[in-house]
Amino acid sequence: MIRRMKSTDRKKRIVMLGAGFGGLAFCRAVDTSRAEVVLIDRQNHHTFQPLLYQVATAGLSVPDIAHPIRSIFRRKGGVDVRLDEALHVDAAKKEVRLRDTGSIDYDYLVIGVGARTNYFGNDRWEAFAPGLKTLDDAALIRQRILYAFEQADLTDDAEERARLMTIVVVGGGPTGVELAGAFAELSRFVLRKDFRHIDPAQTRIILIEATERILRPFTPGLAAKAHRQLEKLGVEIRLNARIQAIDEHGLTLEDGLIPAANVVWGAGVRASRLCASLPVERDRAGRVKVAPDLSLPGHPEVFAVGDIVHLVDAAGKPVPGVSPAAMQMGRHVARILNRELRGKSGARPPFRYLDKGSMATIGRSKAVADIRGLRFSGFPAWMAWLVVHLIFLVGFRNRLSVLLSWIYNYFAYRGGARIITGLDRMFRLGNPEARPRSIAEGTPGAAAEPAVNKVERAEQEMAASGVPR
Ligand SMILES: Cc1cc2nc3c(=O)[nH]c(=O)nc-3n(C[C@H](O)[C@H](O)[C@H](O)COP(=O)(O)OP(=O)(O)OC[C@H]3O[C@@H](n4cnc5c(N)ncnc54)[C@H](O)[C@@H]3O)c2cc1C
Repeated sequence: MIRRMKSTDRKKRIVMLGAGFGGLAFCRAVDTSRAEVVLIDRQNHHTFQPLLYQVATAGLSVPDIAHPIRSIFRRKGGVDVRLDEALHVDAAKKEVRLRDTGSIDYDYLVIGVGARTNYFGNDRWEAFAPGLKTLDDAALIRQRILYAFEQADLTDDAEERARLMTIVVVGGGPTGVELAGAFAELSRFVLRKDFRHIDPAQTRIILIEATERILRPFTPGLAAKAHRQLEKLGVEIRLNARIQAIDEHGLTLEDGLIPAANVVWGAGVRASRLCASLPVERDRAGRVKVAPDLSLPGHPEVFAVGDIVHLVDAAGKPVPGVSPAAMQMGRHVARILNRELRGKSGARPPFRYLDKGSMATIGRSKAVADIRGLRFSGFPAWMAWLVVHLIFLVGFRNRLSVLLSWIYNYFAYRGGARIITGLDRMFRLGNPEARPRSIAEGTPGAAAEPAVNKVERAEQEMAASGVPR
């Protein structure tokens, strides 16, 4: 259906693109009695990205960290939620082209479409090293990891088993550290007693970092503590590592191939493709260089918020791509527009980022925190991390569900979300010929072809059958 959505004469129309942290904060703070607010997202849910790694490592289920956008604004009349994808912004015509519903014009536009994974010019690696940005990414990683353990349990080939039980995480930032720690716990504690023919505790987990230390946003002291905590969990950390290639065999560094069935990419982000259509300067990661008030230079009616923004704030600090920054930007733009919608004029205030600190968790009872100069680690940091994430998670049901899962996982040493879904579609439902014979025939160890080929074939079939990955 193609239709043009014209602004009414009565009220100004504000179009908000993206219901991430920035978009939600904006829509919650904007005065909807004075403007028509249209919130457009290509998903029907808000994703709480800081907990994606727990879905990828089977600690939480997909619905625990997502919330329907419509439900968030059920009680706030005046926010018109639409499921669609913005393809192009025509700032001269004040119009956004959408994938499904034609185009929509605006009086004000706020763009908060977030970031995507950055392979730094090596996009061909994406097929072998999925990034972690969406729920689909997290579910795919979990599926691949759990399936590799299943295949390792079936093979008699020791080399192949070692390959299936090797997980490489690329990127020593908070995401990579959290993933590596959680994979270590999954294999050492959760899966340990589940298999008869393999010992999941022997799983090799390797964290690859290009620079001389992990956790660069933290002080060297806290980063060193995190390094030691990860090593205690059995994670191998390779610093100053230069990746040469990633393919179906694993990951190759300057000193050779690390055979691995699973490589997960947590190394970097770049701005959404939509930013390329904006008439402004962008940095190397595609982020838009905004004016101090977050508007686009030359277009005071268009604002950018969140991860797509490149800004050195009024206090001279580069604003980081984190959720508090996105929320603060959303609220800042809402304050500006609320004032202008009331007919007030005058210079707009510049955005100033309030840095409340950083935290990263390494695993059970282990974390590092730097909260306004107060630096601590271990159990207190872990508790602080749990509380902050529960507070910011959207939706009471999600908070309750996540809290109960964490309590259960902590005391029972179990991860509740170890179900592999999509196998039937992966192997074509009803076509036993397309399934790996060892599974179809129920004969563990009788693999007629190497397990690796089954995984590759399954993935090729999944791609060929159009199953979303
Ligand atoms: C794995 C991971 C862990 C993280 N951990 C932390 C953490 O611990 N602490 C922290 O502070 N930050 C963390 N971050 C960063 C934080 O999640 C981001 O800074 C924050 O989500 C940015 O908010 P945003 O509003 O800019 O974009 P997002 O939250 O990414 O939201 C963008 C929204 O736009 C929608 N969208 C995208 N393109 C389009 C389009 N063309 N049309 C319509 N809709 C579109 C998306 O569906 C999405 O809903 C993490 C990020 C990741 C990926």
